[in-house]
Amino acid sequence: MEEYPDLDSNIQNDEDVDISNLMDKHQTIERNLTWEIRKLEKDKVLLENENLRLDREVKSLKSEISRFRTPPLVLATVSEILEDNQVVVKSSTGPSFLLRYADKDSNKMEIGARVALNQQTFSIVEIITSEKDPLVSGMEIDEVPDMTYDKIGGLKDQIRETIETVELPLKNPKIFEDVGITPPKGVLFYGPPGTGKTLLAKAVAHETNATFIKIVASEFVKKYIGEGSRLVRGVFELAKEKAPAIIFIDEIDAIAAKRLQGSTSGDREVQRTLMQLLAEMDGFESRGNVGIIAATNRPDILDPALVRPGRFDRIIEVPVPDEDGKLEILKIHTKNMTLDSDVDLKSIASNAKSASGADLKSICTEAGMFAIREENYSVSAKNFEEAMDKVMNKNKKNDLSKNEELMYN
Ligand code: ATP
Repeated sequence: MEEYPDLDSNIQNDEDVDISNLMDKHQTIERNLTWEIRKLEKDKVLLENENLRLDREVKSLKSEISRFRTPPLVLATVSEILEDNQVVVKSSTGPSFLLRYADKDSNKMEIGARVALNQQTFSIVEIITSEKDPLVSGMEIDEVPDMTYDKIGGLKDQIRETIETVELPLKNPKIFEDVGITPPKGVLFYGPPGTGKTLLAKAVAHETNATFIKIVASEFVKKYIGEGSRLVRGVFELAKEKAPAIIFIDEIDAIAAKRLQGSTSGDREVQRTLMQLLAEMDGFESRGNVGIIAATNRPDILDPALVRPGRFDRIIEVPVPDEDGKLEILKIHTKNMTLDSDVDLKSIASNAKSASGADLKSICTEAGMFAIREENYSVSAKNFEEAMDKVMNKNKKNDLSKNEELMYN
């Protein structure tokens, strides 16, 4: 008897296969979806973090913008404390005001305290504590610096001129009286960065046993109106107190550029600061025991008023050293280094074409670092080559990024 296939069981089998296929598919889809969900959850966390970071950045940028938009504050000194949280203050711009202060400030309020006032409403915005006094924070004071002319390479003429114009009037003022000439009041050093302007000023201070007082002129331009001129006065008073002293004003172009004829409150403040500086110099005895030296990299933008006779009337160029100068500087900075016999300072000097004194010093330090990395005690010619590459390439990159900055400004 012919056997017929069991239709029922076949159908049953087919259904089982379908169901198991479907279940497989379902599982695969479920797995994919779970994986997809996990991925999305991870992305969500990442995006939330990114969002938080951007929020923080927006907040800090907003506060930066509001800081830029805030006009400078007027500085005033408390002259009288009255009842009911009232004070009389004398502002740095001239007039006195009767103002109220907040309860929370009552313990800081005292006669002589300095307060910052809003320019429009003249309300007290802040009581300035003495630690914040820029007169203290912005100055570098060195009681007789440890710098001598023999540690300066390649600036023979400049050293001679500095001795004649700053050192001699401090050491031997009588000689000028006898000859009947007035020594220069101020000396202006100009030249590219890192060429030894500060070194020269420090060396004069050393030779004359004088206190070296350095201030970077941009420090004079503070956020408080009237602060710049107060600072200038402060520097001159301090110099008289500490006399003999050398006042060294670096980057003088920050307060003495021609273009500052503008009319914003910032420009006027910078001009007032310059006027104060000129007034201090005009009222200064040139044969006294304070020498004034200023330095700039941008002599071309200086206000001519600054270089009139009786002010910075001796101008000394401090250029990038020539090959002999470079060799002298290299000798100074390698004096205490152990060098391999293959190190030829002369060829380093001739290869370091555009290097300033500061670059040559960096080359020596870097060469030493390369030797240390190789666990050597002595520095080889190869170390110098690597150091020169590093320092001079860094300069090139800096120059490029400066050009880019100029292009985008
Ligand atoms: P800036 O214009 O940037 O203020 P500067 O002309 O005042 O620069 P300095 O501060 O005097 O430069 O020099 C920086 C460093 O470079 C010095 O500490 C010194 O080590 C080195 N240097 C520069 N010029 C000389 C030099 N002629 N002889 C020896 N070392 C030098």
